[in-house]
Amino acid sequence: MQLLDNVKMAVARRKLSSRKIEGSDDALEIWIHNKIRAEFKGSKEFREAIGRDELGEIKNQDVTEYQLHKLRKMLEYVSENSYHYRKVLNDAGIRPSDIRTIKDMGKIPVTDPSELAAEPFQFLCASQSKVMRAFTTSGTSGTRKRLFYTRNDVLNIIDSIAAALKAQGMTDGDTLQIMFPAVAAWDPSLMLDGACKIAGFSSVVASTADVDEQVKLMKENHTTMMIGLTSFIYRISVLAKDKHDLRSMGIKAIICSAEPLPEAMRRELISIWGCKVVAQYGMTEMGLASSIECGAYDGLHVNNADFIVEVVDPATGKQLGEREEGEMLWTSLSMEGTPLIRYRTRDLSCIIEPPCKCGFGTGIKIGKIMGRMDAQTKIGYGQKIYPLLFDEVVLAVPGVLSYDLVLDRDDYRDILTFRVEFKGDKEEGRKKIIAGLEGLDEIKDARQNDLIAPLMVEMLDVGCAPFEPKHQPIIDRREQYDADRSPGERAERPAAASN
Ligand SMILES: [Zn+2]
Repeated sequence: MQLLDNVKMAVARRKLSSRKIEGSDDALEIWIHNKIRAEFKGSKEFREAIGRDELGEIKNQDVTEYQLHKLRKMLEYVSENSYHYRKVLNDAGIRPSDIRTIKDMGKIPVTDPSELAAEPFQFLCASQSKVMRAFTTSGTSGTRKRLFYTRNDVLNIIDSIAAALKAQGMTDGDTLQIMFPAVAAWDPSLMLDGACKIAGFSSVVASTADVDEQVKLMKENHTTMMIGLTSFIYRISVLAKDKHDLRSMGIKAIICSAEPLPEAMRRELISIWGCKVVAQYGMTEMGLASSIECGAYDGLHVNNADFIVEVVDPATGKQLGEREEGEMLWTSLSMEGTPLIRYRTRDLSCIIEPPCKCGFGTGIKIGKIMGRMDAQTKIGYGQKIYPLLFDEVVLAVPGVLSYDLVLDRDDYRDILTFRVEFKGDKEEGRKKIIAGLEGLDEIKDARQNDLIAPLMVEMLDVGCAPFEPKHQPIIDRREQYDADRSPGERAERPAAASN
């Protein structure tokens, strides 16, 4: 059996185009360009669309033309094979040939996650016999979704992961420690571990929350790179740093995944490990791995060979310009199992045009993920608050491991209670946290108008609650935030209440 597995692995490895690419900062861009060249060579339609017989050096415009060409092909594919999209495109009167620019994509209706959750088989484009893996999403917000990947899908994902790891400095001599807490029904570890094995990299799956055990695994396996859930890696690092000499362990890069990476956390991780710390973003719906930061720390490079990202105003659906924050829509260009068109992510980010300081000359990046739309709320007379805002000041205080914020309301004021899991001098920590929070404009304004009560900070012991992956830090217990109240109206209330 093992022999057969080894043979299968060798056959699969030969299909990866990433294996021919040397590890370097450019590995991901080279991989994307190779895919564009392969399409150029194989597709007369693409050569005609681009109006050239020779591709030469790939320019940014070529990447866009390639994406639009792949999109037209994808629209044909889903019209033929997906019940859902055949109907959607028919109803909207859209023919694939209508889509000539990214702006034209605005004509195509968006896909809501609830549609996918309700009828996964209406999205399935491949016969069941071709489906190699089915994934069910974790359902952190909303309903679980079922996705189908064919063999080509899985190989392509593995290929892109291998190219992205090479771009982070991964070589045959490195070992990747995969650090996601063990959670049923949500296991990116399997995919990553499989990807490493096929790509010929060493990897070790380390799901234990036991800090000493994690460090032991690193030493035993000569770990040089780490990837895992952002808050989990942070927790292990902060708890291990006093007991172990982590800087001497030779970690080259840390990849923080599945949750946003606040700058305060990045700074602390860099100081603990003395290496590069980058964020990665992906969704099960898009095959988990689809974008990753580079050492320039200014946004995430997208796998532009397989995806188009648009950022739109969530209220109007209008496409936004460079560095304008809105909801990301992702379109898959290569998936065979469950391809998704203009899929609503509920995640907030922006588009960043090339070039990048790292040397990438082509392909858009996405900005740092600002969190999820459903994690945003408002306080005072409408100041928008979201987890990353507080992450940057609360997590910046040394000793903070995690926190959540409970929102209540008395008569007219919002009551903010921060519950902080803390290691160290609690009183000292509390003062620093309050000082940090009171420095935020959103808090300052609302306090000055007496629209929020004095901040409450409860300091809790380490391990006070079980570690919860992808946990939502803002718990809103107010009946309803009434955003329509005008500032004037709200401002009168304190006076009335003081009688
Ligand atoms: Zn870059």
